[in-house]
Amino acid sequence: MTKIVFATGNRGKLREASEILGEGFELFTPSDYGIDEDIPETGDTLEENSLQKARYIFERKGCDCFSDDTGLEVEDLGGAPGVYTARYAGESKDFNANMDKVLSELEVLEKEGVPVSRKARFRSVVTLILDGVVHQFEGTMEGEIARSKSGRGGFGYDPIFMPYEYPGLTAADITEEQKNEISHRGKALRAMAAFLHETDR
Ligand code: IMP
Repeated sequence: MTKIVFATGNRGKLREASEILGEGFELFTPSDYGIDEDIPETGDTLEENSLQKARYIFERKGCDCFSDDTGLEVEDLGGAPGVYTARYAGESKDFNANMDKVLSELEVLEKEGVPVSRKARFRSVVTLILDGVVHQFEGTMEGEIARSKSGRGGFGYDPIFMPYEYPGLTAADITEEQKNEISHRGKALRAMAAFLHETDR
């Protein structure tokens, strides 16, 4: 059984990762290892933040670990909110305010007559530190920003994100299983799982 720490406090993510990794892996949280503080995320990119979180665990506990960091990248907004996705409308991390900010910024561009594609993607970067060596894996979910919010499922920006796989629906309109199959985080975690299996873990 390979023991590995997932640098997250989110139980949903932990469940998703352990389903993807399958038997043979026992996942732990930082708090199982006595790390209860918020892990700093001060990088300028998803890659840096993801690495920072995994390194934080590795430097303190010396164990195999992984972390993830996700951003929404809207083409017409030059890739914003990107690394600021969680706190785009302020430190309170209010999902509704974050979504409203994206919607209104696109409306402003449209009113100014700028051609707007509404193309966007979620991008996740997973960093694995295995035997002290760093490996990174990426996954994306491509789609478009809706004109208004729709759906009761999911979380974060799901009500305004329409994945290409489900035309006319937002990520909050589809089921959790449907979303996990196509999601950025699911893809990045599956890439890491394939790597771990290749290395006979
Ligand atoms: P994190 O790096 O997973 O904490 O994600 C950063 C932010 O991205 C979250 O606070 C959410 O606002 C947003 N986010 C991440 N994954 C998703 C998703 O699957 N759907 C919608 N929003 C997401």
